[in-house]
Amino acid sequence: MEQADVIIIGAGIVGLATAHGLLRERPDLKLCLLEKEEGAAQHQTGHNSGVIHSGIYYRPGSYKARLCRQGKAALERFLDEQGIQYKRRGKVIVAVDPSERLRLEALYQRGIENGVDCTLVGAEQLREIEPHTAGQWAIWVPETGVVDFGVVAARMVDCIVERGGRVVTNARVQRVVEDRDHAVIASTQGEFRARLVINCAGLYSDRLRLEGGRRSSVRILPFRGEYYSLVESRRDLCRSLIYPVPDPALPFLGVHLSRGIDEAVHCGPNAVLAWDREGYRRRNLRLADAWDTLRFGGFWRMAGRYMRVGTQEWWRSWNKNAFVRSLQRLVPDVSGADLERSPAGVRAQAVRPDGHLVDDFLIEEEPFFIHVRNAPSPAATASLAIGQVVGEQALARLDATSALHPSRAAATILQR
Ligand SMILES: Cc1cc2nc3c(=O)[nH]c(=O)nc-3n(C[C@H](O)[C@H](O)[C@H](O)COP(=O)(O)OP(=O)(O)OC[C@H]3O[C@@H](n4cnc5c(N)ncnc54)[C@H](O)[C@@H]3O)c2cc1C
Repeated sequence: MEQADVIIIGAGIVGLATAHGLLRERPDLKLCLLEKEEGAAQHQTGHNSGVIHSGIYYRPGSYKARLCRQGKAALERFLDEQGIQYKRRGKVIVAVDPSERLRLEALYQRGIENGVDCTLVGAEQLREIEPHTAGQWAIWVPETGVVDFGVVAARMVDCIVERGGRVVTNARVQRVVEDRDHAVIASTQGEFRARLVINCAGLYSDRLRLEGGRRSSVRILPFRGEYYSLVESRRDLCRSLIYPVPDPALPFLGVHLSRGIDEAVHCGPNAVLAWDREGYRRRNLRLADAWDTLRFGGFWRMAGRYMRVGTQEWWRSWNKNAFVRSLQRLVPDVSGADLERSPAGVRAQAVRPDGHLVDDFLIEEEPFFIHVRNAPSPAATASLAIGQVVGEQALARLDATSALHPSRAAATILQR
């Protein structure tokens, strides 16, 4: 049985950033990351829009607002240090009709409060930035960037290994039980013992817990985000990133256009309830996941609240013309012939039993465990800052147990 101070479950960007931060802070820590797939970043981290968000959308003072700003700065430093390519393309958030103008101005004020570099522009200036957009007013956010988070994750794996950490793949965690003052983790790669377990399992983060311990206070509902991309000859329709004004109640909705680091222009994502937590295709169904959703009261309360929006998203998923019409609000020259399907992603969204979506990042603690229960967008941008928060909590817990049992601290170091 392998012994560690800390076991992290999940080699998505949040687990990797947490491991990276912990080992930078405490190089002597014995740390091991367990990932069920063959490699890192196979789920949300490897299936996202690749946007380095500025932090304009989030409620001032929230984890999202604070950690997005801190995380963006930390991520850009990491990318510079590691020589990873990224681009600050900038983004326009576009108000098409007068009814959106007040919301646009409120969003601009929020951006200023959050310390984002942004300006309000009129139609003429907007057309200089994005000649094909339809908007009358816009917020221009020059600091928004793009990167390939899969590349970032791969480099984090290298850094972790260089610092003495272990990343064990094909290691699906099946059970976590208490054994006196340690947790014993049973996985498909054998058993591990640790003083602390950090759950960064993304789409499965609500399922992991200490056997006999508290259930998660939230349930993960998977929302597939489907994309099209512009055919190469029509990429000139979008130079940077073109977003609609978000609905404050559901800010992650609203398909947009974004020119990625590979110069491809991605259109989407929508947000459709998935019946398989890792279901990247519309027809995917996993009975256990579907049943888990259907027997959760919070799902029915959420469905009642957002029935209209949910139906629209579902319709737009099956009807390409509806998707095209959403894009045409932003860029009228886009047509169905300009779009080809591209791979989807699945978002892990935590929902409370009362049917409310958890808006902010959510971290919960129980004996032997720190759980990252909700880390949706902009968690890839914010990953290094989330990792720092989780890492500080982890070190405080480890130090507290070492102070009570100094011999144990010595023992774990001796076993390295
Ligand atoms: C469509 C889409 C677009 C997005 N766009 C952006 C964007 O532009 N910018 C941005 O900042 N954010 C974006 N996000 C959000 C961002 O991708 C996620 O917030 C982030 O990747 C979450 O990382 P994670 O490590 O928590 O989860 P994941 O990347 O999903 O990693 C979790 C890992 O845990 C592993 N795991 C699960 N269960 C177990 C188990 N039992 N044992 C072992 N391993 C296990 C999984 O295999 C997986 O590798 C987007 C997300 C989606 C889906």
